[in-house]
Amino acid sequence: MTDAIRDAYSALRKAAPLGAQDCGKLCGACCCKGSGNDGMELFHGEEVRYAADPGFTVRKADGRTLLICTGHCRRQDRPLACRMYPLFPMPVDTPDGTQIRVVYDVRGAASCPMVREQIPADPRFVRAVRKAGLYLLRDPENERILKETAVLFEELVSFAQKIKKEP
Ligand code: SF4
Ligand code: SF4
Repeated sequence: MTDAIRDAYSALRKAAPLGAQDCGKLCGACCCKGSGNDGMELFHGEEVRYAADPGFTVRKADGRTLLICTGHCRRQDRPLACRMYPLFPMPVDTPDGTQIRVVYDVRGAASCPMVREQIPADPRFVRAVRKAGLYLLRDPENERILKETAVLFEELVSFAQKIKKEP
């Protein structure tokens, strides 16, 4: 595991979307109920944690590394994507360099009540996601993944706005 990944995990260790309240009670933990074709993108340096774990499958496709799970895992085994969900550290270019803006993960707009209803996240969780994003930016590969995901978010938002219009 790289330093950037270790620090990002550490930043998120004690943080949860709603603090002491379990957000899984809002939705029956639906973000853990994907099919065997769903997967979370791993950041550069995470794969090594899962390569020999029978509870997970690592799959590579189109330059991305995906982690497929069984829908159950120990809290300490969650990948970064799950630790940060339903928020995401969006990289934003500024005159002072790339900064992190924490946003809701638009991929959860249909399924996650926190995203759909814009339920405010625990401020400690928001800070932890920002910190994790800053650690990830230290690694150019992870900066690339964050930036590619940011482009995907923009496309999803733009598509959602288009289909809202009258046919
Ligand atoms: S992050 Fe969203 S979908 Fe996942 S358990 Fe919490 S409220 Fe449910
Ligand atoms: S890896 Fe764990 S936290 Fe992430 S979706 Fe699978 S069961 Fe849920």
